[in-house]
Amino acid sequence: MDQLTDLLVRAAEQAAAYRASLADRQVAATADPAAVRAAFGGRMPAGPTAPEKVLDELLAAAEGGLVATAGPRFFGFVIGGALASATAADVLAAGWDQCAFNAVLAPAASAAEETAGGWLKELLGIPASASVGFVTGAQAANTVGLAAARHHVLAEAGWDVERKGLHGAPRVRVIAGEERHATVDRSLRLLGFGSDVVEPVRADANGAIDVDDLARVLAAGPSGPTIVCLQAGNVNTGACDDLHAACDLIHRHGGWAHVDGAFGLWAAVSPSTRPLVDGVELADSWGCDGHKWLNVPYDSAFAFCSRPDVHVAAMSYTASYLTGSGTVPGVSDYTAESSRRARGFAVWAALRELGRDGMADLVERNCRLARRFADGLAEAGIEVVNDVVLNQVLVSFGDDARTDEVIDAIQRDGTCWMGGTTWRGRRLMRISVSNVATTDADVDRSVAAILRIAGA
Ligand SMILES: *Cc1c(COP(=O)(O)O)cnc(C)c1O
Repeated sequence: MDQLTDLLVRAAEQAAAYRASLADRQVAATADPAAVRAAFGGRMPAGPTAPEKVLDELLAAAEGGLVATAGPRFFGFVIGGALASATAADVLAAGWDQCAFNAVLAPAASAAEETAGGWLKELLGIPASASVGFVTGAQAANTVGLAAARHHVLAEAGWDVERKGLHGAPRVRVIAGEERHATVDRSLRLLGFGSDVVEPVRADANGAIDVDDLARVLAAGPSGPTIVCLQAGNVNTGACDDLHAACDLIHRHGGWAHVDGAFGLWAAVSPSTRPLVDGVELADSWGCDGHKWLNVPYDSAFAFCSRPDVHVAAMSYTASYLTGSGTVPGVSDYTAESSRRARGFAVWAALRELGRDGMADLVERNCRLARRFADGLAEAGIEVVNDVVLNQVLVSFGDDARTDEVIDAIQRDGTCWMGGTTWRGRRLMRISVSNVATTDADVDRSVAAILRIAGA
């Protein structure tokens, strides 16, 4: 075999061996950050190193610093695992080294995004006429969706924001729930609105938007350019805004409704959770992650827009040297990137591997396992703070200091990994079940470890 073949085979074998180890591996990194930095450290080499040696060095340096986020007992953040076909597709994407700019430069990458984009709309309940851009994460998806919103509401007011920017523009109202994800504020910063622009809307008991308060906020300010950012899947509680009622209200006020549905939009795939996102089709733009609940490797997300013309007007550019540019939109005209990784292969593969039923089963199973967590802990007298409507569970072990202590001890123990949060003034432990590999046994083993550590 030639050198590249040897290297790829070795890399693939090592990656597969690592993945096989995840079922029993300690979840947290085994080395401390300083040791990992030291392992990667050293001087910039003056001369070349043989590729086989570089790979060996990388394997050795990374070993202690890998966190088993792809494994079945990582319940921090909202992470998701990585399906086999999607992982292999990403290996090919690197090997093929396609630049997913447009159909002239990368016909296969473009076609994969187009087809997978259609399947995604079907699964998520987004109108087939919507456009989609494959982006890095929900952060980027929200930025693209809100850029489309900015274009549209200002164009309606006779202002070309792409040419003139925001200096001297009509004022745009931006309304969002008080429990919006922090990335929404960063998107607003990047778009020149600033985070102070947000007119907050109160949340209900479980963290979804209070629709009566949305009506109050809408009515309290001037009509004119208005963007409202809704949410499907509160990152703490999993609660989903009442999209039907909210979109109706927003449209009656002539506003644009964007939905941050990083993981919660996937509720649409199962009949049991579908009511949580009833009315999803009424929104104007949507952001959703692939690397969370769809279980494709990092990074992968989708920015949808009900108006492809608006989407392209907000994001596209042309240059004379770019063949195929400026005629029909290329896949990159729906994103903020120009040269792009071919993310569509892994998404296409994941959707084919699961099928509609497999995706519904994944969401249902993860939700059932989140309830299993909540029940197991509650039975032992531990307080479950949220209404477990989706895949997120919030837990208190008493006062803030005690809860932080238990979280820290769980992370050090290594059986499973949970993170902390502050929700409504209390320190709480977050459990997010979003990995295709997680089983009943993984949850039971994790509950047992938590109870042992908490001394319950
Ligand atoms: C994770 C998340 C984001 C940010 O997504 P990235 O994939 O990290 O960019 C935004 N909104 C919500 C609700 C999320 O859960």
